[in-house]
Amino acid sequence: MRREGAPKCQRSTSLGKVGRGADRLGSRVHELCSGGPASLGFVLTIGFPAAAFDTNCFILARERGSECVIVDPGIGVLPGLAEILRDHRLKPVAVLLTHGHIDHVYSVTPVCRGEAGTAYLAPVPTPRGDAGREGELPAYLHGQDRYRLADPLSGVDVGLRSMLEAQFGSAATWTEPSDVREVRDGDSISLAGLDFRAHHAPGHTEGSVMFSLADVPDQLQGRVGSTLVSGDVLFAGSIGRCDLPGGDERAMDRSLREVVLPMPDDRLVLPGHGDITTIGQERRSNPFLRRL
Ligand SMILES: [Zn+2]
Ligand SMILES: [Zn+2]
Repeated sequence: MRREGAPKCQRSTSLGKVGRGADRLGSRVHELCSGGPASLGFVLTIGFPAAAFDTNCFILARERGSECVIVDPGIGVLPGLAEILRDHRLKPVAVLLTHGHIDHVYSVTPVCRGEAGTAYLAPVPTPRGDAGREGELPAYLHGQDRYRLADPLSGVDVGLRSMLEAQFGSAATWTEPSDVREVRDGDSISLAGLDFRAHHAPGHTEGSVMFSLADVPDQLQGRVGSTLVSGDVLFAGSIGRCDLPGGDERAMDRSLREVVLPMPDDRLVLPGHGDITTIGQERRSNPFLRRL
């Protein structure tokens, strides 16, 4: 079940409905990972929209059968995640959170506890030697959104809370993940054989952060030169809304001007909602970038 209308986190745009885009993203990103042998420089990229708000959940890995990182496990993603992890024989080692909104963090604790339908927290030795840890997986989040993890449901209105409870069959509850690692701008984070760089881009929330990678999905080789997980900062044809608590329009403009626009045109963008895009495509056609 999907909620009607624009996702809560997205500023409305005349450039198409995000829900339909997310459906396309699901099939399209699955295609990105179906191909040949992985090698250094490629990232296995799988994405699907969550059951509520069409929040994109991404799974990034070096190749099938390896460790992986899960980005923004939102509402109702556990069955889909379990299927993907099983089908691709992936072992999660960490969760990256682009910001602290409920539709991006709702499933972080069960995922960190290994409740996505697999026994991936069992201490299985791997050649890399950095997996198989006992206990919960770490969740990475910018320090300025850290406070939101204390109780992201507190900012949820009564209507949304009852919708969640109607949809998922029990009272909406929250437990904070036990191993939260605060990210700062410019941090390099090496996980699952992938090297992420953190880009603090406040405006949608205080601690919104994007993560870039030098690697690209193998099916897009030659068409894109690097990859960005943009959260709710940048979408195809739109940007994240700034009118929720912690939002700041001037900070968003500064982030777009000083963080997004200097990025290379051939950078693939995996956004928090909707279809995938590139920095170049958004530079040319996104009205929120063109007006800067
Ligand atoms: Zn969102
Ligand atoms: Zn958001």
